[in-house]
Amino acid sequence: MTDNTDIYYDDDADSTVLDDRTVAVLGYGSQGHAHAQNLDDSGVDVVVGLRETSSSREAAESDGLDVATPRNAAEQADVVSVLVPDTVQPDVYDEIRDVVTEGDTLQFAHGFNIHYGQIDPEDGINVTMVAPKSPGHLVRRNYEHNEGTPGLLAVYRDATGDAHDIGLAYAKAIGCTRAGVIETSFQEETESDLFGEQAVLCGGVTSLVKTGYETLVDNGYSREMAYFECLNELKLIVDLMYEGGNSEMWDSVSDTAEYGGLTRGDRVVDDHARERMEEVLEEVQDGTFAREWISENQAGRPSYKQLRAAEKNHDIEDVGEDLRALFSWGEE
Ligand code: NAD
Ligand code: MG
Repeated sequence: MTDNTDIYYDDDADSTVLDDRTVAVLGYGSQGHAHAQNLDDSGVDVVVGLRETSSSREAAESDGLDVATPRNAAEQADVVSVLVPDTVQPDVYDEIRDVVTEGDTLQFAHGFNIHYGQIDPEDGINVTMVAPKSPGHLVRRNYEHNEGTPGLLAVYRDATGDAHDIGLAYAKAIGCTRAGVIETSFQEETESDLFGEQAVLCGGVTSLVKTGYETLVDNGYSREMAYFECLNELKLIVDLMYEGGNSEMWDSVSDTAEYGGLTRGDRVVDDHARERMEEVLEEVQDGTFAREWISENQAGRPSYKQLRAAEKNHDIEDVGEDLRALFSWGEE
């Protein structure tokens, strides 16, 4: 998979496939506002779909876009880009399903609902994904600066024979092919995205930080020192990794830090952690996580609320808040 991954750039995309198609962008949040405005600036016929009561209506209208209800927008459109939160997408789809008809394209920015069968479009409907690999405000800002945002393209169902071209033209119109678009599948995008955010990015890294912090504080070190060491300095390390991989980070830190890290890192994140990662991945693959998250939402999010509150009450949050008020740094 890795050696023959297709990457697409502007020249690979044919914008004309969107010439006689209208795109409905449902939702005007992080991704929605960026996709809608970039499509519009690229000359694509766009209508934003928002509920009558949506607080985003004013923003979309003052950005010069046509706004309709999700159902109305979907009815006018040939391509329906579903950019409401993943947890509400099945309900929104229920509202629009009978106006998304044969030959239309349902376009997503994340594969969850299709991959786990929460949305099951009729056979004659194309199902595509264009997923920018960054938050919406960067998708918009990069576009305005004539730069691109890397993205993913996947076709789950090609009913019309040109679903891939439609997806690629959409990716071009929002600026992704300026930077490069990687071909993937709904399965690969969904499973790798969930695993990454659970085991490494959001879950793994915060647990590592909290456990390191607690270890120092439990052994008599000051909370402030523990905060700086285990949380604040993470940014410096991650910036180096982002710029030049782990190698650039190792090159930039002291030899003592490099030797200590190389000899101790794998003792902390050891075979036990690897087994746990395998378990977490299996739960993503066999749908255990998806079922849990769906029923958690159906129940009104009881554990989610509890976990969120506990995380906010962690000591590292208090010390961080105090320290960030005393120092000024990192303002960009
Ligand atoms: P968001 O939470 O920022 O915005 C959602 C918007 O949907 C809201 O602003 C509102 O306009 C509308 N909305 C909210 N609740 C609604 C409801 N009940 N009914 C109708 N409309 C409602 O969402 P987002 O982060 O832009 O995510 C949209 C999609 O993009 C998701 O599939 C997500 O996985 C994907 N995605 C997000 C990011 C990111 O960085 N935020 C990156 C890549 C992909
Ligand atoms: Mg992600």
